[in-house]
Amino acid sequence: MKTITIRRPDDGHVHFRQDGVLPGLLLEHADICGIAVDMPNPKPPIRTGRDILARRAVFAEVVADRRPWFRPRFCAYQTPETTAETVDDVMDAGADGFKTYPTDQERKPGTTNAEWGMYPPEHLDPKRAPFFERLVERRGIWRVHAEHPDYKQEDREKAFLPILDTLLQRHPELRVVFEHISSAEGVAFVKAHPQMMATVTPHHMLLTWSDGYGNHDHCCMPAIKTETDRIAVFEFARDSAQAAYGSDSAPHPRAAKAQVKGANGIFVPPRVGIPAVVALFEREGCPEKLEPFFSERYADWLGVPRNEDAITLVREPWTVPEEMAGFRPLFAGQTLDWRIRE
Ligand SMILES: [Zn+2]
Repeated sequence: MKTITIRRPDDGHVHFRQDGVLPGLLLEHADICGIAVDMPNPKPPIRTGRDILARRAVFAEVVADRRPWFRPRFCAYQTPETTAETVDDVMDAGADGFKTYPTDQERKPGTTNAEWGMYPPEHLDPKRAPFFERLVERRGIWRVHAEHPDYKQEDREKAFLPILDTLLQRHPELRVVFEHISSAEGVAFVKAHPQMMATVTPHHMLLTWSDGYGNHDHCCMPAIKTETDRIAVFEFARDSAQAAYGSDSAPHPRAAKAQVKGANGIFVPPRVGIPAVVALFEREGCPEKLEPFFSERYADWLGVPRNEDAITLVREPWTVPEEMAGFRPLFAGQTLDWRIRE
């Protein structure tokens, strides 16, 4: 197979950041993707309807009408102050729901810019019930970084599952996206809850602990795990209608990545992440599963039309640059066998 053509892909999870770096990052995605979900954790985070309107205006100005296929989606950051009224405020401004980030009890961030987030057991506080009830009423989406910061890195996702289970028993109609799923236990949990969706990153399908350990480029939350986890995540991405592409593209300046306790997050532009997954699916003999994973399931779950046009990938080795849009991407300096034809 020399070329693969798929319906234009979507990306369910992207950090476009803010200020000077935003335009370059946004256009990297807008060139290739249809739907792209903007994560609400720039500094300061997006918390209110007014924040959503301002963010939408920035996107509209950068992308203008040059990429008519691009359909950004926005969500707000759930903080301890978020209420049922906030649900109406942000959804009336055009958001499709919320994202929640874990902090520990002292509100130290469990991941980048998570210090406004919530200590996981707080979700079960009866005071939160009106928030979830209103979100269900409005058919809003609750996107969850499902990690419990009280545990060591490799156990954090697993440790969050009982909280999610209780929450789903109380609010069975809640529309949940389990973000950047990374463990065999997480996969089993999502499969047991057919109302849920999950995003899957290229790195959790391609790398294991041994690739990640000590490599600042591969530091991310949730951490890259074992080969058993990697296989479970890949097979889920390949086979399940509940799995869709979400790059979790999360660029950090090189200096921040290189610190002893390096910043968590990997820059995964579509020109790198998509060919890397194409190579994996092709190698595993399932290229026909690329289109459902990239271009169908997320739109279908959202209940919006699939993208109408297509992109073509060619089998043509190329070296990933050391820098793209000002940041060091995943697989910088390495050769990928597939590239997106432009
Ligand atoms: Zn993320």
